[in-house]
Amino acid sequence: METNLARLAELAHDRLGDHPSLFFEGTWHSSHRMHERSQHLAHGLVRLGIAPGDRVVVIMANAPEVTILYHAIWRAGAAVTPVVFLVTAPELRHIIDDSGATAVFTTPEILPKVVEALEGRSLPVVVLGEADGTHVSFADLEKDTEVLPIVDRSPDDLAALMYTGGTTGRSKGVALSHENLAYSGKASRARSHVDGITRGQISLPLSHAFGLLVTVGAMHVPEAGSTVLQRWFEPKSFLDLAVEHRSQTFAVVPSMLAMMLQFPLEELDLSELRYVYSGAAPLSPAVREDFERRVPSVTVMEGYGCTETGGIVSGTPPLEPRPGTVGKVVDDVELRIVGPDGTDVPAGEDGEIVVRGPNVMRGYWRGEPLGDGGWFHTGDVGRLDSDGYLTIVDRIKDLIIRGGYNVYPRDVEDALLAHPQVSMAAVVGRPDPRLGEEVVAFVSLAEGASVGEEELIAFTKERLAAHKYPRSVTIVPAIPLTSVGKLDRKRLRATVKADAD
Ligand code: ATP
Repeated sequence: METNLARLAELAHDRLGDHPSLFFEGTWHSSHRMHERSQHLAHGLVRLGIAPGDRVVVIMANAPEVTILYHAIWRAGAAVTPVVFLVTAPELRHIIDDSGATAVFTTPEILPKVVEALEGRSLPVVVLGEADGTHVSFADLEKDTEVLPIVDRSPDDLAALMYTGGTTGRSKGVALSHENLAYSGKASRARSHVDGITRGQISLPLSHAFGLLVTVGAMHVPEAGSTVLQRWFEPKSFLDLAVEHRSQTFAVVPSMLAMMLQFPLEELDLSELRYVYSGAAPLSPAVREDFERRVPSVTVMEGYGCTETGGIVSGTPPLEPRPGTVGKVVDDVELRIVGPDGTDVPAGEDGEIVVRGPNVMRGYWRGEPLGDGGWFHTGDVGRLDSDGYLTIVDRIKDLIIRGGYNVYPRDVEDALLAHPQVSMAAVVGRPDPRLGEEVVAFVSLAEGASVGEEELIAFTKERLAAHKYPRSVTIVPAIPLTSVGKLDRKRLRATVKADAD
């Protein structure tokens, strides 16, 4: 299989022809023009001094130029280091230093943070939009009229260096090769393609593994289609765009669905919307059922993956959804569920999900190659049914141990979300001198809700075992989310720890 991402992009362009492929903030961008811009920009990158193998930091909100830039970087044989723009300056500095980046691409709003992060370092900074004269302008770089021929890359060469750590611990560089991303793109396409479904919509950050998966998935599409892209997620305008463009698919994280549920969906013409692809975090049954009930044309399809696996491990096979599961493992990838001793557990039993395949990274950046014969330990607990459908139980590191009993936050969150007035829920452990940890919950409520904290505790008490229901529920205006829209447990844990101290 062809694995050079620049060549895959070019083949897709040649195969699908010219068509209006991307709608962004009032303008259609044709596939041909976007491809041409990436060819010229690649030439500009070489002029800037970027060489094959270099890492290029891209810290930008979504825009057509992000895709153009990724393609140009791959064309020049370099690797992208996408960074979600909500990071702090010290976090960005860590990424720039650890990756050994040779240039940073950004936009004017983010520039002050980039300048702060770069203090004492002399990297070229390229700005898309109004540049202030001290930095390189994106427009200048793409003025080149020459087309840079695609630089050869071997399947193992670095294509993307992604820093994880949105939800736990210190951020580590995940080194993804051309082969990793070529396969994950192919797998995501195989899981999501349905004939005649060609109009998609996303607002996920293209700089997160899920957004990158959508980018590389587009290189494998069998029929010409179009994407409506939003700079960042804003539920009201996201829904308006879907009505205007008769979008057929959404790619979302679950919190986006929860936010959309706060709008009068029944009053909107979403009749063309067929599939909602949800991934990156647990989807509660209540949110899925509510969305499917209120937009009856929709089937929610779930996928599961990690940055280390090129963004994908499993997905709902087209036309064969099994609600509550994250579908089946994708082609070419092996998946096992193992117990603490590393041996396989029987079907239907819980264990750690471990995977191996061409989408799986070889190792962390500057780290040792993966041990255990190339099996990647995901840190997630899951189970397989006898038909091969995978259910995610929760992350091992989110497990709360209360008085010796295991409590998975997801079970408690699902119980809270079953209450019609709860919009979002997040559960963490609070250090407790007697029990080790206590189960505490944070919830945000739907518009006009009147339910109180005690009532919510009573509601979960009826539904959960005695060791599981939260002894404290705090109603907050908004649950903190990471840049891709996952529950920010790190932040919540810090809050409850500070309260406990
Ligand atoms: P880290 O703290 O490890 O850096 P992260 O959230 O920043 O976490 P990602 O690689 O973005 O890292 O997320 C991968 C994780 O997201 C998976 O290991 C799993 O816990 C969770 N996840 C992804 N898809 C799903 C899903 N469909 N259902 C439940 N959890 C999911």
